[in-house]
Amino acid sequence: MLKAKIFTIFPEIFPGFLGYSLTGKALDEGVWTIETVNIRDYATDKHGSVDDTPCGGGAGMVMRPDILGAAIKANYSKGRILAMSPKGKPLTQDMVKQLAQEEEIAIVCGRFEGIDERVIEAYNIEEVSIGDYVLTGGEQAAQILLDAVVRLLPGVLGNSESTLSESFEDNLLEYPQYTRPTEWEGRKVPEVLLGGHHKKIDDWRREQAIKTTQERRPDLWKKYLDSKRV
Ligand code: SAH
Repeated sequence: MLKAKIFTIFPEIFPGFLGYSLTGKALDEGVWTIETVNIRDYATDKHGSVDDTPCGGGAGMVMRPDILGAAIKANYSKGRILAMSPKGKPLTQDMVKQLAQEEEIAIVCGRFEGIDERVIEAYNIEEVSIGDYVLTGGEQAAQILLDAVVRLLPGVLGNSESTLSESFEDNLLEYPQYTRPTEWEGRKVPEVLLGGHHKKIDDWRREQAIKTTQERRPDLWKKYLDSKRV
């Protein structure tokens, strides 16, 4: 069982899309739990302010260390603590697999220009990015991270084999998928997939996975080659 604890100023965003489909069913079944901590509950003035202007000037607001720090101090005790941030370590399937082994994960969701650096230092927070683009808040990113983690928890996917041949396993992207009808608007499903010859199908899929990876993701292809080198 995985316990997720989310630090946010928008607790109502959760569980969001995680409440649907496979992740929602798993939540109902208690395969994982989610708890939100409203950072604003730790505000000390009557306006409930959680942010202030950046020291040194510049645009936007920064989440205050005293308020966020108090929220973390009162609610976090163990396990990995992450903060979603565009300058974090890029989220990969390897990281997702590691996180799926944890019992508890705490996630701090930034808003505005982000959070005061001292909180990150004080709690050894691991910053994680979901890609090279900028969102308005960490809540969206946290849900994406949790979606990827929760689907790997035992019993969440109907067919657990399906994680073995997916994109990023072995640093390759997935082969193309087809279903019936075998002919659609003049386009046929590749013959080999209809022949029932498992070895030929596996070989074809591997070739396709390699071709797609080489064409679309030279960075991954390099990783694949490096991993095969002894
Ligand atoms: N000023 C920051 C961007 C702040 S965006 C910068 O230039 O780096 C506001 C919040 O959205 C961030 O604190 C973070 O929690 C979240 N966020 C935005 N883009 C993200 C990304 N690519 N990955 C993870 N979190 C992101």
